[in-house]
Amino acid sequence: MEKEILEKYEKAGKINQEVKMFAREQLKPGVKVLDLAEKIEKMIIDKGGGIAFPVNISLNDIAAHYTPDIDDTLTLKDGDLVKVDIGVHVDGFIADSAFSVRLGEKSDILIKAAEDALEQFIKEIRPGKTVDEMSKLIEDVVMSYGVNPVRNLAGHSLEEYTQHGGLSIPNGHIPSKEEIKEGQVLGMEVFTTHGEGLVKESFPTLIYMLIQPKPVRLRESRKILQLAVDKFKTLPFARRWLKGIGSTVMLQLALKELVDREVLIEYPPLRERSNSLTAQAEETIIVLDKPIITTRS
Ligand code: MN
Ligand code: MN
Repeated sequence: MEKEILEKYEKAGKINQEVKMFAREQLKPGVKVLDLAEKIEKMIIDKGGGIAFPVNISLNDIAAHYTPDIDDTLTLKDGDLVKVDIGVHVDGFIADSAFSVRLGEKSDILIKAAEDALEQFIKEIRPGKTVDEMSKLIEDVVMSYGVNPVRNLAGHSLEEYTQHGGLSIPNGHIPSKEEIKEGQVLGMEVFTTHGEGLVKESFPTLIYMLIQPKPVRLRESRKILQLAVDKFKTLPFARRWLKGIGSTVMLQLALKELVDREVLIEYPPLRERSNSLTAQAEETIIVLDKPIITTRS
């Protein structure tokens, strides 16, 4: 990897670490998720980073892809299993990292299992390892805790301005001989649950991403498209960031038009199928003979 690119990955990682530390301190019963999200995203910008994706703050059986809506009233409460997933980029080079906390508890077996599986992954990952070996490792470590991995979620490669690159490393074992290559950058994430270990799409959708610009009919749709092209580019964005485009109803109609026309793709919240608690751990890893974990020191 070129030195300049490595430095950008490391800078994004450093900002991500600082923001995570701040976010962890903020997690308390009574905190409004909307306020927390806005503080986190502001901090990323203030520290000189770009927001790689809307901060995900997903509770309990929602594994991922929840970010607060405009005027969201959701508030943290005792016992919540909170996942905070933060994306920072520097010139398109992304640091993607997540942690989980169980409010009111010192420890939680789901969080331990996810963190340990990620830890073992970090110990073992080298250029040339296969998806077969690494997905089996994740599954084995998670199941040794007597809990399940979420089999239809996966770690993924990160590419310039691309949150989900071509490589996928599922949380459940798949016998793929695909090799993980030197210099590849992974957002390696592990999800655990007491449930059956599958997520399904839920609602409402709060996160979108541009696929390709096309002519659209509604004035609000054209405004959103303009913003996507000029500002969000190929990175995901939050419905919350579109506040001011129009009324709630018009915003919803415009987003529907954009999705129906395949201008935008939607990322609905992912809920565990048996409505069981889920935990997540994620770090960004540059795969080298001596791997670099950009998102922790
Ligand atoms: Mn993530
Ligand atoms: Mn990720």
